[in-house]
Amino acid sequence: MKDTLYLVIPCYNEEEVLHETAKRLLEKITNMIENEFISDNSKILFVNDGSKDKTWSIIEELHQENSIFSGVNLSRNRGHQNALLAGLMTAKDFADMTISLDADLQDDVDVIDKFVEQYYNGSDIVYGVRSSRETDTFFKRTTALAFYNLMSKLGVDMIYNHADYRLMSKRALEGLSQFREVNLFLRGMVPLIGYKYSIVEYERHERFAGESKYPLKKMIAFALDGITSLSIKPIRIITGVGFTISFISIIALIYSLIVKFFGNTVTGWTSLTLSIWMLGGIQLLCLGVIGEYIGKMYNETKQRPRFIISDKLIDIDKKDI
Ligand code: UDP
Ligand code: MG
Repeated sequence: MKDTLYLVIPCYNEEEVLHETAKRLLEKITNMIENEFISDNSKILFVNDGSKDKTWSIIEELHQENSIFSGVNLSRNRGHQNALLAGLMTAKDFADMTISLDADLQDDVDVIDKFVEQYYNGSDIVYGVRSSRETDTFFKRTTALAFYNLMSKLGVDMIYNHADYRLMSKRALEGLSQFREVNLFLRGMVPLIGYKYSIVEYERHERFAGESKYPLKKMIAFALDGITSLSIKPIRIITGVGFTISFISIIALIYSLIVKFFGNTVTGWTSLTLSIWMLGGIQLLCLGVIGEYIGKMYNETKQRPRFIISDKLIDIDKKDI
């Protein structure tokens, strides 16, 4: 008996791509079932992240046509990471393994077999890693690279060029379910689960229809979330800056006393204004960073639900593919 695979796809306003995506995924998964590579209980699970367009009704239609298409409807838009987690946590109860991918099929569907192969070879987590970023804009490529470098300097263990295209086994998902944080940054959290992992390379395509749901503003917020959710180094850096400046100010104090004793005091307007501005700036920055962490703690202590599911369309017994 082969293992059950659930493909988990978060969707936010994806009416333009959903039919095509469903068609291609169905082809793929049917093929794998026919080749007895995965069990015929396997499913394609769409998570509707509070879309404002027809996404959910398309998912309902698909489910009616073929029960291999399943759906989870969130009560409102919660963002990609929460939607993905909702899907994974739902799939965890039925699946032996899940593969998460985007609705726009930017992630190459043809490497799914390789993911599953690695799973059968004993990997609990298989990371999809982009072999090239040629389809990205220059801006996205350089900012992404800078972000990965920064994250690794801050001590966050992340797989280079891996987004959220990955396979996770049931026990890896159970591990993930024990992470209670509200500020989700899955690609930084999954390596913390442990277990054996492997990497599969793939080419990332361009979105074939519709627009990116990750504008620059969301990308920056996501990066900041990633840093402050997983690393406390920025706070340490602040302490370091504080120490250095205090040290410099002691030297400055000694220097100014000496100068005063020798009677060479001049009206030090320049140095005075400079130091007021500089120190003021640094203090505000430090307060900002500390505030960011306090804000996070505030959110975490509230322990609000990370998602609320309003409908579920999953028939586990029917096997009509
Ligand atoms: N997405 C989501 N909720 C959101 C934003 C995006 O579920 O609030 C989904 C979206 O439907 C897609 C995936 O997350 O399946 C990745 O989004 P997108 O392709 O727009 O991002 P990009 O590939 O441009 O980084
Ligand atoms: Mg995309």
